[in-house]
Amino acid sequence: MTSTDSTETWQAEPPVLLPPWHTPEREKLQEQARRFAMDEVLPVANELDPQKGEIPASLLAGMAERGWFGLTVPAEQGGLGLGVFEYCMVSEELARAWMSTASILARSQGLGTAVADADRRHELLGRSARGEWIGAIALSEPDAGSDLAGVQTRAVLDGDEWVVTGHKRWCGNAKAADFIQVLVRERDPEEGESRSAGLVNLLLEKERGAFPPGLSGYPIDKVGYHGFLTWDLEFDGVRIPRENVIDEARAAREESAEEGEAAKQAGFAEAQKFLNTARVHTAARAVGLARAALEDSIHYLQEREQFGHPIGDFQALRFAVAEMAAQIEQARAFYRQVAHLLDLGLPVHKEASMVKLEATEMSVRVTNQAMQLHGGNGYTTERQVERHWRDARLTTIFEGTSEIQKRIISDRLLPRSPLS
Ligand SMILES: Cc1cc2nc3c(=O)[nH]c(=O)nc-3n(C[C@H](O)[C@H](O)[C@H](O)COP(=O)(O)OP(=O)(O)OC[C@H]3O[C@@H](n4cnc5c(N)ncnc54)[C@H](O)[C@@H]3O)c2cc1C
Repeated sequence: MTSTDSTETWQAEPPVLLPPWHTPEREKLQEQARRFAMDEVLPVANELDPQKGEIPASLLAGMAERGWFGLTVPAEQGGLGLGVFEYCMVSEELARAWMSTASILARSQGLGTAVADADRRHELLGRSARGEWIGAIALSEPDAGSDLAGVQTRAVLDGDEWVVTGHKRWCGNAKAADFIQVLVRERDPEEGESRSAGLVNLLLEKERGAFPPGLSGYPIDKVGYHGFLTWDLEFDGVRIPRENVIDEARAAREESAEEGEAAKQAGFAEAQKFLNTARVHTAARAVGLARAALEDSIHYLQEREQFGHPIGDFQALRFAVAEMAAQIEQARAFYRQVAHLLDLGLPVHKEASMVKLEATEMSVRVTNQAMQLHGGNGYTTERQVERHWRDARLTTIFEGTSEIQKRIISDRLLPRSPLS
C-alpha cells in the first residue's frame, strides 16, 4: 500500500493538542511558583513542620512580593487580575512543598472585603492584594460542622455595635490574622423559613498576633496541617461595628451595572462562585500533595536497594508508580477543566463537588501508597512522605467532607422522593 492509495486506513498519530488553557504567561507563572515552592518553601517546611511551626513572615513576604495574595483580585483594585485557574495552578505548586502556604492564599484574594461602603471595600481589596489583609474564617462550631445551618453563635445589636457570644471551633490562622470573618446567628428562623435564615457573616478587625477584648482560645493539637495554628475560640461579648456585615452577594450586586432581577442573579452567582472556587482550590492542593508523594517515591525507589537491586526494578513497585502518576494526571486535568469553566462564568456547582471529592480521595490513596513504597522509612519523621500523608488525610474532611460532596452531587442528579 502506498501513501497515495485511497484505501489506506493507517494514519499517523495526530500531533498533541495543547489544552485550550495553555498560554506562555501561565507557563511562566507555573515555573515561577515551582521554583519558589521548591527553593524557598520546601526547606522551611522540612525544618518547621516537625516542630509544628508557623509559616514565617519571610515566606509571606515572598508571596506578597509576587502578588499572589491578590492573584484573583481585579487589576484595577491592585491585584494580578488573574483567574481561578492561575490561583489553583500556583496553589498546586505551593502545596507540593507545604500545604499551609497554599491555604494562606485562600485567606486573602479579596476575602473579608465585601462591606457595604464602596470606598472602604476598595481600600480593603488593595490591602488584600498586597498581603496586608490576611484573614481567618470562623464558620464551624463544636456542634455545627457539616450542618452549618446549626450555627448557634449569637450576634445582638447594641446601639451601633454587634455583641457576639458563642463558641467557634477549627478557626485556622485566627490569632495571626488581620481579621476574622465570623458566621453568626442574628435571629432564629421564622415559621416556614430555611434553617439558615438569620445567619450573617461579620467582619471582626483585629491586630495580627493578638485577640481583641472578649475573644480567647487555644490552638487545637492537630495531626498535621502545620504552618497554621487552628483555634478553638470563645466569643464572650466581642463588639463589632454595625456596618461590618460581609455580604458577597450584595457587593457583587452593587458592582453590577445591571438593575433588578439580573443584578440579584449576579449576586447569587458570586456567592456560588466563592464556594466552588474553594472546592477546586482544595482539589489543586490535594494534587500538589499527591505529586509530592510521587516525586519522593520515585527518588526513594532508585536510592533503596534490596535483593541486590534498587527496589525500583521490582515490577510491582513500578506499576504502583504508574498508577499513582495516572491518577494524579487525571485529577489535575479535572481541576483545571473546572477552574477554566469557573473562569468562563459557567455554572459548575456539581463539577466543583465532584473534583473536590475525586482529587482529595485520590490524594489519600496516593500518599498512602507512597508510604508503603518507602517501607519502614516512610513511617518515620525522617522522611517527608509522612507529612504529605498527614496533610492529604485532612483534604477529605475540611471544606466539606467527601460524604457532603456526594450529597451535593447526588441531589443534583437524583430527585428525592416525597417520602425522603
Ligand atoms: C484541621 C482543620 C482545619 C479546619 N479549618 C477550618 C476553618 O478555618 N474554618 C472553619 O470554619 N472550619 C474549619 N474546619 C472545620 C471543617 O470544615 C469541619 O471539620 C468539616 O466541615 C466537618 O465537620 P465536623 O468536623 O463537625 O464533622 P461532622 O459534621 O460531625 O461529620 C462527622 C461525619 O459524619 C458525616 N456526615 C455528617 N453529616 C452527614 C450527612 N448529612 N450525610 C452523610 N454523612 C454525614 C461526615 O461526612 C463525617 O464523616 C477545619 C477542620 C479541620 C479538621
